[in-house]
Amino acid sequence: MVKNEDLKGLKLESFVALDIETTGLNSFSDKIIEIAAVKFENGEIVDNFSMLINPEIKLSDEIVSLTGIEDKDLIDKPFIEDVLPLFFEFIDKQPLVGHNISFDLEFIKYNSSIHGMESDFKSKKIYDTLSLSQIIVPRGPVSYKLSNLKKYFNIESGDNHRALGDSIACGELLLKIVEKSLELNDATVKKLADVALVFESFVKIFILDLANYFAKTSFKRKIGTTINKYHDSFNYIAKDSEPDQNMESILSMEDIIDKIFDKGGLLDKNLSKFEYREEQHIFSKASHRALNEGKILVTEAGTGVGKSFAYLFPSAINSILSDEKVVVTTNTKNLQEQIFYKDIPIVHEQLGGLFSAVILKGRKNYLCLNRFESICKNPTQHLVSDDQAKRFLPLIVWANRTITGDIEENTGFKKGFSYDIWSKVESDSGFCLGKKCRHYNRCFAIGIRKKAFKSNLVIINHSLLFSDIVSENAVLGKYSKLVVDEAHNIENAATSYLGEEFSFSNLRNIINRVITQDNKHGYLKKLEKSILAGIEEKNKVDKFQNLIDQLKDKSRSLHDIGKSFWNEIGEKLYRNSSNYRSNSIKKRFKNSDEVFGGFESEVSKFKSVFEDFTGAIKRINVLLGTLEEGEIPDQDEIKQEFSTLFESSSDLYSTFSFFKDTERENFVFWYDIVSKNNGLNFKLSSAPLDVSPILKKNLYDNLESVILTSATLTIEKRFKYMQKKLGLSSVEKERVETIMLGSPFDHENQLKVITPTFLASPKMSTVYEKDVENVITALAENFDQGTLGLFTSYKMMKSVFYNVSDLFKKKDRVLLMQGKDSTRSDLIKNFKNVKNSFLFGTDSFWEGVDVPGNSLEALLIVKLPFSVPTEPVIEARIEDLEKRGLNSFMHFSVPEAILKFKQGVGRVIRSAEDRGIVYILDSRVINTRWGQAFVNSLPVLPKSPRNMSQLIKITEESFKNE
Ligand code: SF4
Repeated sequence: MVKNEDLKGLKLESFVALDIETTGLNSFSDKIIEIAAVKFENGEIVDNFSMLINPEIKLSDEIVSLTGIEDKDLIDKPFIEDVLPLFFEFIDKQPLVGHNISFDLEFIKYNSSIHGMESDFKSKKIYDTLSLSQIIVPRGPVSYKLSNLKKYFNIESGDNHRALGDSIACGELLLKIVEKSLELNDATVKKLADVALVFESFVKIFILDLANYFAKTSFKRKIGTTINKYHDSFNYIAKDSEPDQNMESILSMEDIIDKIFDKGGLLDKNLSKFEYREEQHIFSKASHRALNEGKILVTEAGTGVGKSFAYLFPSAINSILSDEKVVVTTNTKNLQEQIFYKDIPIVHEQLGGLFSAVILKGRKNYLCLNRFESICKNPTQHLVSDDQAKRFLPLIVWANRTITGDIEENTGFKKGFSYDIWSKVESDSGFCLGKKCRHYNRCFAIGIRKKAFKSNLVIINHSLLFSDIVSENAVLGKYSKLVVDEAHNIENAATSYLGEEFSFSNLRNIINRVITQDNKHGYLKKLEKSILAGIEEKNKVDKFQNLIDQLKDKSRSLHDIGKSFWNEIGEKLYRNSSNYRSNSIKKRFKNSDEVFGGFESEVSKFKSVFEDFTGAIKRINVLLGTLEEGEIPDQDEIKQEFSTLFESSSDLYSTFSFFKDTERENFVFWYDIVSKNNGLNFKLSSAPLDVSPILKKNLYDNLESVILTSATLTIEKRFKYMQKKLGLSSVEKERVETIMLGSPFDHENQLKVITPTFLASPKMSTVYEKDVENVITALAENFDQGTLGLFTSYKMMKSVFYNVSDLFKKKDRVLLMQGKDSTRSDLIKNFKNVKNSFLFGTDSFWEGVDVPGNSLEALLIVKLPFSVPTEPVIEARIEDLEKRGLNSFMHFSVPEAILKFKQGVGRVIRSAEDRGIVYILDSRVINTRWGQAFVNSLPVLPKSPRNMSQLIKITEESFKNE
């Protein structure tokens, strides 16, 4: 409860909270249908205002379902021009509070202006609870919607999405924000004020009033002196105790795995939801063996086996007894988090807390305190706009409290939208001062790595695995046991991690670090300032100034020459492309002349300017090396900056030379050109042709035990294809054990597969597309099941989407599509929430969509998922097989498509209770010889209706039996 004196101190003893409901999001074309405001005095509601408004248009179903307001409720209500004067009279001169208030104010301003009314908000104090809660409560709910914050703070205020209820909630939320703000310490409030002061935003007044109040009352406030740190369980689970002899002998028992997984065993006794699964038991015993006997275990485990427990228990036991860590890697963040936050706490508890575990991410996920403090000290030097400052503010309170520094923990800061900010403060080896950093002892990136060095279980992702391999274990330290989950993705992860990239924007980033194009920011500015502040001797200053001027010149030349050289090449390739009308071109090249041919003199000029630029950085480095310790302010930092700058510049120069001059054995090269309004984006990329020797050398030859697992590791029940791909075929046979475990689910009764015979061949694209639309229409008209449609082409998906969307509107059913209006995770969330919706997706939706229950009961496989043969890496791999006399279709395209197909089919049955149907709309699965390989990969035999009515009948019967 906030005290009156605090509200007075913050000039919030009285304010008005407001909210509006509208027909949509566009303040010009949409209408206000409800407006409300609530007056607060000394933290209590004293008056309110609420009116419905006749918008003179029909409401959409979405707005009716969101607000509960219907057309009939508005028909006899006053118009906006009659309501606004009453509203202005009510709010009077009070400060205004709203959640994302700029939205409400835009609507009110526009409606006032078209009816000739004044809406002078400029003279008012405005408070935005959305931005304020992101700043003051940075570890709050996942999303800062008002309804979520109400739940988070237990605010009772009546209906969500009704103007009066939301106005009350908004006012109450501001009071909660005040309460939380008073718990901050002086240093944090000062940092907030330093940034807020120099930029304009709806949080400025609150923060400055808070800083003033803190300055006046710091002697009175005890509470702010204790920093309330967040708990580090966000990324670390500590060992509770050391194993005693008794525990060690129990864990060493030969049948320890039976004691845990068997019927009547540890898990059966202790976990209410535990169900004995033979497959899990087998997998766990095999994992235990592999870890103890130095083997490589390859396990295909179908959905529902509970594979993470099956390898986590043996891994933890092995690590406790051997005191060596086991590293577990996953492809997706979702699985990495599920293992660390859901599964490991259970394993930890069941094994008496005898081990520690850490979730370790790439360095750039952690805050660099040094870079962060530099911005706080001098915000205008680093933040270039009001908007950047507003997005930076949610880092400040969090930075003071976090123990992990993992940005994922900060829900108030949206890294996806604010990468420009995050890139200024993320931990980056290029900027790290190491032991010389004054924050070294609290450094998050270094701290978590130290924990990873000592932890029993370290949970990482595939990219980090390769980053550790490239850096010779600098990330993970020594380890000899590895579990690779989602192992079917390890080849792709290696291919993309071990490639190179060169573009003008890579170069511009380095040049901008030296000096920005407006000549206002960059290391040279900092160096100049520091030299003038620290060195008195004119000669020495002149020496520096001379080199600084030289580097400025070289930066400008490199920027100008690089830009025009790069644009010319990009334009030539774009013009010469047979596909030049398209917005984006991706093309493989085998010889650098295909890119640089005809530009020999430009290349040599570019290389020479690039060398001059790198040389000028080097000369500054050398001169910096002659300074006495502490001779200039921020000396260590500046030295580190110039030394990493030299490294980055030299590395980028080598990358350019790699594309220009190097032999191209075992590498694939290509260029991407994207045409945008402001010109062409042109980039060169490369990737290893075959990663299997790299996997063999670094994983199987180097490590003692490796467990590889996934739901899709076999083709027609054989591991041969995957073993080759993963570099296992050249490992000694006796070291490798393979186990294929089906799913414990009763697929015969839970799943139906339908392969219609009456659809056109996918090769007849127009007719085929129409046939697909007909199936979708028939399903939407006759059945109420949630349906996922998996496409292989975005173009076709879009076309089908727009052709069937009228029907979905008529039927009042939700139809969602990848890339339309929402992110992938929001689409999946909506799909889960609206039980009978349809969701269309391509590539990334073939795996990782986990929707148990009746939101996903039907799956449409629109075409078999063959890779695009013109994708450079695919093209090169196909060519390589052909060169070796092998049929690339049978040896590459079909098995790759089967692996993806199996992932797709696996979306339907996610739990023992699920029932579902898979419709394979690609007739090649039944009409071709190779199609049988797809059928053989299915868990049940398909039924093949010969016409639409048979398809409907089979579907009807299947859903009737549920
Ligand atoms: S040690 Fe390096 S990463 Fe850590 S805070 Fe300092 S500069 Fe940043």
